[in-house]
This record gives sequence, C-alpha cells and structure tokens, in this order.
Amino acid sequence: MTLPHIVPVRAFRDNYIWVIRDRFYAAVVDPGDAAPVLDYLRSEKLKLIAILNTHHHNDHVGGNAALLGKSAAPVFGPATESIPALTHPLKESQEKKKDDSNAYLPEFPLRLSVLDIPGHTAGHIAYYGANLLFCGDTLFACGCGRLFEGTAQQMVHSLEKLSSLPDKTQVYCGHEYTLNNIRFARVVEPGNGALAELEKTVENLRKHGIATLPSTIAVEKSTNPFLRCSQPEIIESASRYAGKPLTGPVEVFTAIRDWKNNF
Ligand code: ZN
Ligand code: FE
Repeated sequence: MTLPHIVPVRAFRDNYIWVIRDRFYAAVVDPGDAAPVLDYLRSEKLKLIAILNTHHHNDHVGGNAALLGKSAAPVFGPATESIPALTHPLKESQEKKKDDSNAYLPEFPLRLSVLDIPGHTAGHIAYYGANLLFCGDTLFACGCGRLFEGTAQQMVHSLEKLSSLPDKTQVYCGHEYTLNNIRFARVVEPGNGALAELEKTVENLRKHGIATLPSTIAVEKSTNPFLRCSQPEIIESASRYAGKPLTGPVEVFTAIRDWKNNF
C-alpha cells in the first residue's frame, strides 16, 4: 500500500488548496476556486473522490459546485456552517468510531478525524489523521486566523488542542502567510533563536516561490507566538503593547492578536 501524498494547488493571492492524491485518486481540501484544481486533476489524470471543507468562507468553499460538476463525490464539512453541496456534516466526537466525527476516504484508504476548532469562524473544523493536519484558517505557520466569529478564549482553546497533537504532525494551513507572520513574531519575541533561523529558511523558500508549508507541530510550538502566550518575553512584549501588565494566556493572546491586526 502506498500512502497518498499531498500537493498544493495555488488559488487567488495566497490560498493553498491541498490535494491528497495517489496515482489515480484525489481528495481536495478547501477548493475556493475550481479552475486551478480542475486543471491539475485533468493534467494528472486523477479522479475526484472527495471534497473536505474546514469552514464556510468563500475562498475555501467557492469552488465546490463547479469542481463537482456531475460527479457525486462526497463533500465533508462542518455540521454547523453553510457549505455548498455538503453531503457529510461533521463534528468532533469523543467516540472515535462515530461516522459523523471523521472523513473516511476508502480509495487510499485514509481516515481523518474531526476536531472542533472555533475562533476564526464559529463552526471551523480541522481534519487530523496519519500525521496530517488540515487546519484551514485557524493555525497558520507562525500565526493564527483572525477572530471573525469566535472569542479569544475559544481560539486559545482551539490552538491548545492543535498544539497538543504529536510533534511530528505535518501542518497544512489555508494560506501562504508565513513570512509576514515571522516578521511580526520577531518583533514580539526577538530573543527566540529558532524563529531567527526559521526566518532565513523561509526567506530563501519564498525567494524561489516555494511553499513554506507544511509546517510541523514541533516547529509551531517553538516559533508561533500565538502558541507561546506563556513565554516571559511574549508576556512582556504584549504588556508593553497593551500599556498594562497582562496575566494569563487569553489576555496575552488578545493583545498580540490585536497588535498583529494593526501591524
Ligand atoms: Zn477563512
Ligand atoms: Fe481563508
């Protein structure tokens, strides 16, 4: 059995549509635009077997209908959000075998379980399995999504859930935001040597137009300021930005999320 591998298809300015594929089949994560995916499937002679959506924003679901065309491939997505052509509404469950808590792709075969990670949107989900994490716009390399529908408390909890996955987990995010995120992170935590190293690596990748993803949970834990709200240097920076002493991860998170919005 050969494991499926993951390929990025670019869309819009900086979206990644992740294609999970083997020699014959493809499942597609967050197809905001159908055209580049259809081109890819055609040129690689792949059959579409599933669409997986993480949240309802148009740059993640806008291509669902056109990509399906006449195909009856299943569409997995969050149960509590409005997803075009959704056939398999999913939510996290404690009972791992429950069908509505995972996306099963029998062609590979691959089973991805669902994690509820509200914050960016109220019903945002992630897919996790076989050391792969598809986390949409919740966790970015060195950053996190904006709070459009959820609270800081929810986002902190969602990010904690993702950072508790195994270190070697490959992290596939929805956008190429890494270099910008690192520029911000360097200001928040100038003493982080791992971050300085990552900046060099990522600058070099972007110079050559190469995707900086996937990241890993290990790298995120050592470089992502939004996962490091308990680090003294970050508490100090956030407190300086807020103009008052901050305590606790939610207060620190709230300050650096606001700071990033205005950076
Ligand atoms: Zn989004
Ligand atoms: Fe997005």
